[in-house]
Amino acid sequence: MSTSAQRRMGRTIYIPHMSDHAYVVRAALRASGFDAEVLPESDQETLLWGKKYSSGKECFPFITTTGDIVKKTKSPDFVPERAAFFMPTAHGPCRFGQYCQLHRIILDKVGLPQVMVLSPDSQDSYSSIEGLNLDFQIRGWLGIVATDILEKLARETRPYEHIPGQTDRVYQECLRLISQNLEGRKASILKTMRVVRHKFSEIPLDRRVRKPIIGVVGEIYIRSNRFTNNNLVRKIEALGGEAWVAPICEWIFYTNYQYLARSRDLGQRFEALKARLKNQIQVWMEHMLARPFHHMLLNAEEPSTKKVLEYSAPYMHPSFGGEAILSVGKAIDYIKRGASGIINTMPFTCMPGLVVTAISKKFREDFHNIPWLNIAYDGQEENTAMTRLEAFMHQAREYQRWAKEHAKSHI
Ligand code: SF4
Repeated sequence: MSTSAQRRMGRTIYIPHMSDHAYVVRAALRASGFDAEVLPESDQETLLWGKKYSSGKECFPFITTTGDIVKKTKSPDFVPERAAFFMPTAHGPCRFGQYCQLHRIILDKVGLPQVMVLSPDSQDSYSSIEGLNLDFQIRGWLGIVATDILEKLARETRPYEHIPGQTDRVYQECLRLISQNLEGRKASILKTMRVVRHKFSEIPLDRRVRKPIIGVVGEIYIRSNRFTNNNLVRKIEALGGEAWVAPICEWIFYTNYQYLARSRDLGQRFEALKARLKNQIQVWMEHMLARPFHHMLLNAEEPSTKKVLEYSAPYMHPSFGGEAILSVGKAIDYIKRGASGIINTMPFTCMPGLVVTAISKKFREDFHNIPWLNIAYDGQEENTAMTRLEAFMHQAREYQRWAKEHAKSHI
């Protein structure tokens, strides 16, 4: 192990809570011998610190991750010499690549130059993290896929549960089981996923009437983080819908795809081979974990990145990298699987999000005027947002009725 990796071994790695995937990343880090903790979920104090250390021009996820980091540095148990913050980075047509550098500047500014920022890079699809071995990558990937499946199970189950709160209780128990498995790996993850399947299959449901499915796409942090999106999934469910949210593994498959394309363009044959192999193994693992849930989930497996880019090609050239192209392709995937409405979530002033908003009018026209809602979040709860969501859900119910009638007329 290199010297810097040995140095990290003496530090606690703090992982921001973008979503519950943070717990499986923690488990994979711990299994590799690192001390790791998940930062508490964002709250109003997060916003106070985040706004204090940003200029107001940054993206909203930057404000909340900064707030969570600074909040942690103020806690009595924080030891700067023994701390590192986990903040992956990326390249492309947006500002995410600057987050980790700005966090470094802010930590220096608050007098904590000894605190580390640990930043795996999407350039090589997060494969060359110093001090983190192949075992970390395998456990981390299995954990991310398993958590994606768990979230899908919860979102396809909760709207139909007989006993309020039961799905959430089972979800929490299963998240713990998955994390424990990854941290210790006494049993195969497949065995744990079979336990997860059994626990969910025991929840009594009333699925006589399927509720309108709402596909949630958009910027990864906002769509995945319940604090910043003002609990969008729960609001959709409270208004009589079933929410499907684009999973985290979508982005990782996309970084593999880009890594392969870039290696080919540069004539780096060995890198291209590595990228292809890595993607094939990850796809195989995803299929392996998703297969036992095919009969329980409408939305079990993910389309390939190639398919998603094919879907979005009529609206955007494939060279237009980043999240916009994925949002458009994923929206089409959801419509093909039966969604009755699409919500495009984005931070206020998000560049890829605004591109998708601009395309949404044409998109709706091409898909029988499917209800489509663009929501920009900036940390404030607006009354008008709720009214717009209510109107959207009404349109989604109408669309669902129309789509059913339309399908019948073709029998
Ligand atoms: S996707 Fe949007 S919000 Fe996220 S970093 Fe890029 S510009 Fe900012």
